[in-house]
Amino acid sequence: MPFAFWKRWKRRRWSAKTRPPEFERWSNQHVRCWGRLAPDQQQRLQEIAWIMFHERHFETVRGFSVTDEMKWVVVSNAALMLLGVTDYYFDGVQTILIQPEPFILPQKDRWTIHHVASSGAAWQDGPIVLAWSDCQTGSQLRRHGRNVIIHEFAHHLDGLDGEMGGAIHWESSSEAERWDQLLAEELESLQRSLELGHRTLLDPYAATNSAEFFAVACEYFFEEPSAMREHHQELYEMLAKFYHFDPLTP
Ligand SMILES: [Zn+2]
Repeated sequence: MPFAFWKRWKRRRWSAKTRPPEFERWSNQHVRCWGRLAPDQQQRLQEIAWIMFHERHFETVRGFSVTDEMKWVVVSNAALMLLGVTDYYFDGVQTILIQPEPFILPQKDRWTIHHVASSGAAWQDGPIVLAWSDCQTGSQLRRHGRNVIIHEFAHHLDGLDGEMGGAIHWESSSEAERWDQLLAEELESLQRSLELGHRTLLDPYAATNSAEFFAVACEYFFEEPSAMREHHQELYEMLAKFYHFDPLTP
């Protein structure tokens, strides 16, 4: 049986299986814009998350266990990013590794390597790692427009063209060109505002580089769409085009 056909067949079988009722309660509880979605979008989000729940492989560290609810928190937030997409279920994410707390990662600047506590990480063709303490609703990285799950899955989408650098895939070269310009302008403007000590909507972490800017912008796009559209209108509109989904007019 050809692979693509087998995959579709399995997905049809999972879709036909009844989801336990608590899964919808969990989406309502853990996906911030759940209440803003139209009923057919809520249904679609559940379907995408349900397929990811079966297909994506979860791992954790010794002494910690991952429950169905924890898996659902991850897949339902990631599914939000696929509402405008057909036939992609983060197939390229081989493993989702759940750590109980932030973990130490080496980070290189121009001259030295620092070891910093991280709430998430994503590698090209590799796993996505998430610190469970920051995935939970109300935790540090699930407040004020932040969402570490969306952040790491956005890095994955960014990497689909072979490089995680903020240059995402566009259907036309004119859109790709405008995106590159806009990303550079927005990043520079954020860096300047921070240097001047101004308050910014986006978290200062977005000023790290263009890859982080894109990932943080995606967090705010899904989590705080009104503020995002008000303060970064063109960026908001381009992200709505990229995701084929507008969180403000679902
Ligand atoms: Zn990042």
